[in-house]
Amino acid sequence: MSVDYLRISVTDRCNLQCIYCDPLRDVDFVPRKELLTFEEINRIAGLFAQCGITRIRLTGGEPLVRTNVVWLVRQLAGIRGIEDLSLTTNGVLLELMADELKDAGLKRVNVSMDSAQKENYKQVTGFDFFENVTRGIYKALAVNLNPVKLNSVIIKGVNVSQIPALARMSVELPVAVRFIEYCPTSRQTRPASDYVPNSEVRRIIEQIFGPLTSTLPGSGNGPALYFKIPDSAGCIGLISGVSSFFCRSCNRLRLTSDGKVRPCLYSAYGYDLKGLIRAGANDRRVLNLLKRIIAEKKGSTKLNAFTKEFCMRDVGG
Ligand code: SAM
Repeated sequence: MSVDYLRISVTDRCNLQCIYCDPLRDVDFVPRKELLTFEEINRIAGLFAQCGITRIRLTGGEPLVRTNVVWLVRQLAGIRGIEDLSLTTNGVLLELMADELKDAGLKRVNVSMDSAQKENYKQVTGFDFFENVTRGIYKALAVNLNPVKLNSVIIKGVNVSQIPALARMSVELPVAVRFIEYCPTSRQTRPASDYVPNSEVRRIIEQIFGPLTSTLPGSGNGPALYFKIPDSAGCIGLISGVSSFFCRSCNRLRLTSDGKVRPCLYSAYGYDLKGLIRAGANDRRVLNLLKRIIAEKKGSTKLNAFTKEFCMRDVGG
């Protein structure tokens, strides 16, 4: 397994308040001066590229709320060795920014869309942005950010009713509708008992649309398994991070918005890259640390252990 994928959280701020992520909207944000600057992120990404990273995804918090994020996209797209640059967004600002993101070199986009209905969307996210996100998805398709993937986290008693309508979006649109199993991360989010296994999501879809057939993803090779409803324009992805175990094939590292490198989403420990850089370390010293982190990641197949509570918007989901 080669470690070639880096997720960069560009901010811990977000313009939504999703019940599965940060329902209380903790205002305990990282102080601005502790966030990595875009120049620092660009330097770190360039050094990661020298260590074999070929794919970068920007995430957060909500990456599109950080001022000048398009500038960062342009810089990262220009790094030699970076073949794939993608973004995970809640889509609220996507309609306004899709054109310039594409122009800056963004290849593809994942949009969180946990509901196919306005009122229910508001219940999940706390905000009335259903139409903005819908227009954002159409805009992403129009400017050929390809592929467009939609991410839905299904929570018992909240949006299970939306599964058929979300699945139907893959029939009508050339998108991958991905169901991500809810992973309880803290006492503030929903209880673990609200988790819906993807076996149940699949059962609900097949009850309505008939048997799904396996298919291969158009791009990216993360942990999702892909299926098709017959004659659909798009496909369905199942990301079963709770009911299945894919540490052995995990090839991703995470850079948090305050400059820590986490070998795993659930790591309790993050390597303090920002501290090293702000202490004036030269490229060689930074490269040495990155190589060590990558070697550790390659050697370990059992990182997936909860060691403390965390919030996805802090780490970068
Ligand atoms: N703001 C962007 C967005 O909404 O997509 C990017 C950040 S968000 C933390 C990234 C992904 O994490 C989203 O696809 C979201 O569905 C997922 N996520 C957040 N909390 C989660 C949880 N508790 N369980 C499973 N997935 C979660």
